[in-house]
Amino acid sequence: MELSGPLDIGESEGARLLAAAVDLVVRHAQQVADGPVAPPEPGTEAIRGWLASRDFAKGVQAEQVLQEVMRALSTWGVHTTHPRYFGLFNPTPTWWGVAGELVAAAVNPQLAAYSHAPAAVEIERHVLGFLARRLSLPDGTEGSFTVGGAEANLTAVIVALTRRFPSYAQSGVQGRPVLYTSAESHLAWLKIAHMTGLGRDAVQLVPVDAAHRLDPGALREMRAADLAAGLEPFLLVATAGTTAGGAIDPLPELATLAAEWGLHFHVDAAWAGAIALSDRLRPLLAGVELADSVTVDAHKWLSAPMGAGMFLTRHAAALGQSFHAATSYMPAETEGAPDPYTTSVQWSRRFAGLKVFLALAIAGLPAYAKQLERDVSLGQLLARRLRDEGWQRVNDTPLPVICVVDPEAEAGGPEASAAWHAAVAGRVVTSGAAWISTVRLAGRPAIRLCLTSHRTGADDIEAVVNALGRARKGEIA
Ligand SMILES: *Cc1c(COP(=O)(O)O)cnc(C)c1O
Repeated sequence: MELSGPLDIGESEGARLLAAAVDLVVRHAQQVADGPVAPPEPGTEAIRGWLASRDFAKGVQAEQVLQEVMRALSTWGVHTTHPRYFGLFNPTPTWWGVAGELVAAAVNPQLAAYSHAPAAVEIERHVLGFLARRLSLPDGTEGSFTVGGAEANLTAVIVALTRRFPSYAQSGVQGRPVLYTSAESHLAWLKIAHMTGLGRDAVQLVPVDAAHRLDPGALREMRAADLAAGLEPFLLVATAGTTAGGAIDPLPELATLAAEWGLHFHVDAAWAGAIALSDRLRPLLAGVELADSVTVDAHKWLSAPMGAGMFLTRHAAALGQSFHAATSYMPAETEGAPDPYTTSVQWSRRFAGLKVFLALAIAGLPAYAKQLERDVSLGQLLARRLRDEGWQRVNDTPLPVICVVDPEAEAGGPEASAAWHAAVAGRVVTSGAAWISTVRLAGRPAIRLCLTSHRTGADDIEAVVNALGRARKGEIA
């Protein structure tokens, strides 16, 4: 076959390149569990030194560069695909998800305009519709794939503002709108308030109860004071599965208050929304069906590779009012099928939904339900084992995130406690045995462990409990 230009290496060369890449990632997956979860140090100087030799002045053999990149990624970085990564909701992606990334990149459909990629847009709508039904949201629920939860939450604020303030679209924020979310919520809300012109002060952080859930009594008081001060509440956010401690806000009660007060009710279920796929766990989300909009990340507990958030709303018309646009150069609309660039934040749009579709279609719903339930039982095992070893649990959730303190270390006061727990967690991470983190729950310093990998098993639970025990006694570096 004749090659057309310097970037065209042809299909057989392309196939060799992809085969080499596949070899490398499979070997990585085979070996990752045998090495440390995290490097002892970031290695910035060494990384920059290596990159200085890759100045693009001339091309280098493909396998060579691929190998260098894989070596760099293996050496310098936290291995979120390690079975003992008890971290921040970054999953081990499924192989189906990885295959989806490859196909999406290679076929490269442009989902901005429906007419450019009807199959791809319909596949995404199919997945979003499935999730909406699992969440018991009404027929006619619409939405989009997003880069992640932060973009989905941004979308929620724009839709809520558009619904509530008819002048927002043309004139921007007027008056002093405020939104409510718990003090334990994901603080992307502050960035979103900054970006949307609300200003960070518009985020009213509502105190939480003893179980770290938004306290409706405190919310009532805050709202009364805000109304008296001339502020205009427009949005109530409930978090279903807080990032730090896995608390689920009282959704039915908050939904009722939002309806009574005329507030848009958004449920941020970025992480824990995954449990909608299990009949046994789904009741924990009761009340989510009353939401005006919902955020769920597939790239957290649904084990999709990074870059797969989802936004759903029952207000399809408000979605269109929020993101409509018309140009002379975009292809004409397709009857009865909105163009995604007119219903979402993004314009050019990659096919993020394929990796989720493939995984669901190949594994099937029962496999997902079983995995989620298995993670919950492993979380219970971890909580039990830590209690056996004298750690005190300080969060209260059925979800597999466990926050613990050493009661003796805590007795020294919050500053000494923060330093002690950080030192112990730091020793575990530096040893390479596991990746865990520290957190403050309602200001209380603690060590946090979260199950995120479908490769994690009971032996990994035992290993992290053991590493924590040794770190506590100063036996590991
Ligand atoms: C992770 C998370 C987010 C942010 O999502 P990204 O995918 O990181 O953008 C928002 N809310 C909650 C509750 C989260 O756990």
